[in-house]
Amino acid sequence: MKALTYQGEGDVKVIDVPKPAIGGPSDALIKITLGAVCGSDLHILHGHTPMSPGAVLGHEFVGVVEDVGSEVKRFKPGDRVVSSFFTSCGHCALCRKGWFNQCVNKATFGHGEYFGNLGGGQAEYVVVPLADHSMEAIPAGITDEQAIFVGDILSTGYFGAERAEIRPGDTVAVVGAGPVGLMATMCAQLFGPARVFVIDMVDARLETAQDLGGIPINASHTHPAQAVMAFTGGIGADSSIECVGLMSAVDTAINSVRGGGTISMVGVPAAVQADFPYLQMWLKSLTFRAGWCNVQAYMRPLLDLIASGRLKPDAIISHRMKLEQAEEAYKMFDARQAVKIVLTP
Ligand code: NAD
Ligand code: ZN
Repeated sequence: MKALTYQGEGDVKVIDVPKPAIGGPSDALIKITLGAVCGSDLHILHGHTPMSPGAVLGHEFVGVVEDVGSEVKRFKPGDRVVSSFFTSCGHCALCRKGWFNQCVNKATFGHGEYFGNLGGGQAEYVVVPLADHSMEAIPAGITDEQAIFVGDILSTGYFGAERAEIRPGDTVAVVGAGPVGLMATMCAQLFGPARVFVIDMVDARLETAQDLGGIPINASHTHPAQAVMAFTGGIGADSSIECVGLMSAVDTAINSVRGGGTISMVGVPAAVQADFPYLQMWLKSLTFRAGWCNVQAYMRPLLDLIASGRLKPDAIISHRMKLEQAEEAYKMFDARQAVKIVLTP
């Protein structure tokens, strides 16, 4: 089958690799109908994630079940499914507490040996282990483009918004208008804020944020936290959602909120350690939350919000390309020439 593979820092290639097959009783073999390129793929492209050359990339995908292991109960061949970007077992102590992203049996698609050595979704086929607890069926009437982001960026945007503790009438600052920031902008509005500021430096992304109901702030023309302060009479936003992963963006997220406010960080940190403003956090009684998304907890309700027309995540797709064009797609996305790219095998 054709698959996009990691070759080395800055180097990805579509090559022929063996078609994967079911290995264990909880596995499902998925024929992929749509994959997407994610900001986390850029961390891999830039060599920040330990990867072996030849590893298949991609962790955002939808497809049709082709084969299932003997223990798979919820799915059968022919079912249309969306998968979380990581697997969970559903029965360990942390899954039973609802923290699927802390599952002791977790592994992440397309992220190499360090993250469990799973295949990837920028390919024609992928095996999903622990299928019953890692996938959801796509309801009839929901297209692949509507469903695909449920497994990663839409859940992440929702997770970021939920943990920002937004109340009706609040002011929210979303830092970063990449795909994750745009999903956070969309999901924040489910909680009834009066206004959602969106901060980035890329005009095309800020325009999409505005289409989604956000108020754009271009950080290359103005000091973003000061702009939020000015808009709020010097008080600050009630909460911020950090969707970048850089300390500069974390600083903006912290400096944009009022005393007693909440910062919710979903960007993957680009550094292992960094300076953290403890005193400011203490003086302003701030709450700081961070983490990777607990996707499995959100897939079902998000599919229902899409089915009812309250969420339109496919609105951010700017480019539709073939899997064979994945190398070009990575270059375009890395250069911020595309808002979100989906790939058809
Ligand atoms: P992206 O790289 O396309 O978007 C990042 C955006 O941030 C860009 O538009 C960039 O211009 C902007 N930016 C950079 N520095 C900034 C700053 N100082 N202030 C404001 N904006 C700034 O990536 P994405 O797909 O939107 O993903 C965003 C982050 O979320 C990545 O780190 C990704 O790995 C992470 N992520 C986390 C989860 C999770 O589970 N927590 C899931 C998916 C993605
Ligand atoms: Zn991702």
